[in-house]
Amino acid sequence: MEKKQITKIGVLTSGGDAPGMNAAVRAVVRTGVHYGLEVFGIMRGYNGMVENDIVPMNSRSVANIIQRGGTILKTARSKDFFSPEGRQKAYDNLKALGINGLVIIGGDGSFRGAQKFSSEFDIPCVGIPGTIDKDMAGTDYTIGFDTAVNTAVDAIDKIRDTMDAHDRLFIVEVMGRDAGYIALHSGIATGAENILIPESKTDIEDLIKSLTEKEKRKKLVNLIVVAEGDEFGGANELAKVIKERLPSADTRVCILGHIQRGGSPSCQDRLVASHMGYYGVESLMIGRYNVMVGMMNNKIHYTPLDKAVKERKTIGHEWMKIVKILAS
Ligand code: ADP
Repeated sequence: MEKKQITKIGVLTSGGDAPGMNAAVRAVVRTGVHYGLEVFGIMRGYNGMVENDIVPMNSRSVANIIQRGGTILKTARSKDFFSPEGRQKAYDNLKALGINGLVIIGGDGSFRGAQKFSSEFDIPCVGIPGTIDKDMAGTDYTIGFDTAVNTAVDAIDKIRDTMDAHDRLFIVEVMGRDAGYIALHSGIATGAENILIPESKTDIEDLIKSLTEKEKRKKLVNLIVVAEGDEFGGANELAKVIKERLPSADTRVCILGHIQRGGSPSCQDRLVASHMGYYGVESLMIGRYNVMVGMMNNKIHYTPLDKAVKERKTIGHEWMKIVKILAS
């Protein structure tokens, strides 16, 4: 795409919400204003573009939001944006307002939409990774992961107290439909005996064997952390099988669910969001179009959007070995 003078930018949050999205919106708006750009907030993800729900923003519009979870711009999944007619409408609305650059804060689905849009129309896009799942290639951090994983750790610590008091086997399900990062990190940090993630095959025989051995050694307290998207199934499915195979085990299930998406963003998420928001606007201004702004080895790192949506971050299998050793 040809380099052009960016004068008016739109910012939106799209797809799954993540704590820290507000901090990113704030950074985009204030950086834009600082450099003399007009900044517009696009409501409810791509829906706002299609339905012309777009509001002018200034520095005051983003006052007192850095510490708030959720997103003041709201987020959504937009069916209309999947169709060429929907995207044409979105383009017409942006064009009418003179918006000539977009910052999209969201996950890989949102970036797929951005990539499609920028390949069809002359409006450059920049993506900021906002997802609690962390599974995006080209960045060590995604906005929201640190907060979500700390929420999970807090909750599991509390479960451990009651579990310990009763010699129970607890199965805790954390979020992660396609990615096991929340399960892996929260499981390691809470000393889970077993961690089940979609990225590695769950060997149920092996799991039952390890629980039986632990029972023999009178290690009666067992914590299993399972990602909701584990291919064996979530916590309920697993509990059913364990009850059949080990009827004497006092098994309980806890599904953490949406509490992992809420709450005040951690310091790290606020910092990462502030950094990425700033560099997102800078990228548009200097003509570095259609990239995802990431951070690798504590430095800003840019990945072309088409590459960012194709590649997935993988989990190193040495982690699973460490889990086994530390839980013995
Ligand atoms: P996330 O960004 O959290 O991964 P989704 O996968 O739901 O969330 O994607 C968010 C939105 O991005 C979708 O609801 C849709 O509006 C848009 N989108 C995703 N993929 C495409 C696509 N291939 N073409 C056009 N728009 C898309």
